Amino acid sequence: MTQVKAIRFQATGGPEVLEVVHVDLPDPGPGEVRVRHRAIGVNFIDTYHRRGLYPVATPCVPGVEAAGVVEAVGPGVTRLSPGDRVVYFCDTPGSYAEARVLPERWVVPLPEPIDFAEAAAGWLKACTAEFLVERCVRAQPGQWVVVTAAAGGMGLLLCRWLAEVGAVAIAVASTAEKRARALAAGAAHALAYDDWAADVRRLTDGCGAHAVIDGVGRTTFHPALDALRRRGLLVSFGNASGPVGPVDLGILARKGSLFTTRPTLFDYYAEPQEFAAGTARVLSMWPKLQVQVGARRPLDAAAAVHAELEARQTSGSTVLEP
Ligand code: NDP
Repeated sequence: MTQVKAIRFQATGGPEVLEVVHVDLPDPGPGEVRVRHRAIGVNFIDTYHRRGLYPVATPCVPGVEAAGVVEAVGPGVTRLSPGDRVVYFCDTPGSYAEARVLPERWVVPLPEPIDFAEAAAGWLKACTAEFLVERCVRAQPGQWVVVTAAAGGMGLLLCRWLAEVGAVAIAVASTAEKRARALAAGAAHALAYDDWAADVRRLTDGCGAHAVIDGVGRTTFHPALDALRRRGLLVSFGNASGPVGPVDLGILARKGSLFTTRPTLFDYYAEPQEFAAGTARVLSMWPKLQVQVGARRPLDAAAAVHAELEARQTSGSTVLEP
């Protein structure tokens, strides 16, 4: 048993429900490791857990990714040893803490050149970009792919990944500064949200995009359908503006025999083989992704960081440092 500082909420609500506490961590059980965190990745999903959009048991320590050093290993752990530098994402919250115990299966050795903050800023998001671009959209050279919230943590990585595979990324973001960041990350064009579907059609000679990768959700769902060409694909992978809600499937027919999917990282990294292949692909792409830490904040600032993320004030990825 060891005691660590953590951020926790008892009841769901706004950022103010996050409080700084001390919690007891058990020793790692069979197949588990304890990781001492050096940097913790902040993801929009942490706000869904805090608000109750994605239900979790309370009291809850939010956070689903971090980078750090293995401190202790439980019985049966063979792949990792105390002292190893590692990074992980995980399907249960608990990372907004100085350390956590989790199953070994999520934890990946962190190659020496990648520092902890960079790893925590990019790991979950790069794995998400990998499956979205390469296994969901299967983006081909020359294809037009729209990315909304393109200067966010996910958005910048999606722009880079699409550029790397030769697709033509069209970024949509709310401010001129954000659009400039998306262009610097490899987007070929950058648009504001006003009438962006019409702008995409103009850019694509009236045809529309092959795919839209959208993490904004409610406010962008219908414009995204309007931005697609016949038989185009909408990948709706998040709810930053709220969930899309019930949809009449007939709209896909009326807009041109469209396809849509609502994928999650955990369904694309579910089997050991796909986890190994996906993470290996991300590590091989890492130097090209130029992951930048948008902001480094102390762990105690988690509530302020959530408020800024939800108010669209951040760009890139924020990490918390214990
Ligand atoms: P971001 O850094 O992208 O922050 C969210 C961005 O969404 C904002 O900066 C803002 O950009 C845009 N936005 C548009 N409308 C709103 C609104 N009403 N309130 C808040 N933000 C808004 O966050 P992340 O990179 O952490 O996550 C991006 C999306 O990816 C989220 O929806 C998240 O759930 C999803 N995700 C899904 C995964 C999956 O497996 N399905 C895995 C990882 C992330 P702008 O001002 O330019 O509009």
